[in-house]
Amino acid sequence: MCTNKRKIVLVGTGMVGMSFAYSALNRALCDELVLVDVDKKRAQGEAMDLNHGIAFASARMRIYAGGYEDCSDADMVVICAGVNQKPGESRLDLLKRNAAVFQSIIEPVVRSGFGGVFLVATNPVDIMTRVTYELSGFNPNRVFGSGTTLDTARLRYLLGEYFSVDPRNVHAYVIGEHGDSEFVPWSQAMLATKSVADICEQSQGKYCLEEMQRLSQEVRDAAQQIIEAKKATYYGIGMSLVRIARAVLSNESSVLTVSAQLRGEYGQRGVYAGVPCIVNGNGVDRVLELRLSEEEQRKFQESCAVLEESYKGLEL
Ligand code: NAD
Repeated sequence: MCTNKRKIVLVGTGMVGMSFAYSALNRALCDELVLVDVDKKRAQGEAMDLNHGIAFASARMRIYAGGYEDCSDADMVVICAGVNQKPGESRLDLLKRNAAVFQSIIEPVVRSGFGGVFLVATNPVDIMTRVTYELSGFNPNRVFGSGTTLDTARLRYLLGEYFSVDPRNVHAYVIGEHGDSEFVPWSQAMLATKSVADICEQSQGKYCLEEMQRLSQEVRDAAQQIIEAKKATYYGIGMSLVRIARAVLSNESSVLTVSAQLRGEYGQRGVYAGVPCIVNGNGVDRVLELRLSEEEQRKFQESCAVLEESYKGLEL
């Protein structure tokens, strides 16, 4: 459970980690933010740089470069450490390189006596979150990943543009692997409480479900497109991580499509995948199981099978 201090240890002060940190400072997310990186000098430089912005921030925040011992009284450890995706490289290709990185991180965090929640962003995020769960031995509620939170945000943005509606009133999710096998269960997509399928049907040709398929493809290809244009993606994921961390630190019980361990939901057991979950001070309080159509259930199973197979290839 969270302490009153609201302390976060960020492991990995690269582009994603620092986008999270910068956004966290601007949103006054926590009271204390510790930056940890294998490159200590980099973490120190980043702490100095951020500290110079405190005079312009809306609230004070203690920011410093530290070590794993600082996790002992932290509420959250956010992991953005790892090797980056190269143009043309799939997220699953990154797996082996990042698993080795995680072995050097999780063990000292646990040894510090850390009693909070792990939030993982490193790709392939569903697998790296499962690796964190296995290496930490924590209750799975306290270990989860960013999952399809960013993909869902991209989808809501695109649907908002298509229907000319505030994305905050779009209730639609991307679920499954954060990667090529992810998909949108359109049977569960709503504007306010009206289904997207009904809106298309009643629009006299103005809106159509075929266009929705194009939008979901656009969501799936977005990361690769950004990587081709500017080598990496970081602002969107940084802001997604702040959103998730706020749900934990403020005990919000918000619905977010984080990567959570499935324990019987959707007929899956043990695998980590992006699904709508209730997120609060306990971490993933529970999985909110959607009523999927038969075809959607099959797609979800296929996505979980992809994840299961990659995970099995790892020898931890
Ligand atoms: P980056 O190369 O800029 O930063 C990685 C950082 O990790 C570096 O500072 C590096 O020194 C550090 N690091 C490496 N090994 C370490 C270790 N053993 N201990 C501590 N720190 C270590 O990369 P980035 O662009 O910030 O991306 C980080 C990760 O986030 C990648 O895996 C990337 O694929 C992933 N990512 C995830 C999402 C998502 O939606 N989940 C989106 C974008 C990127």
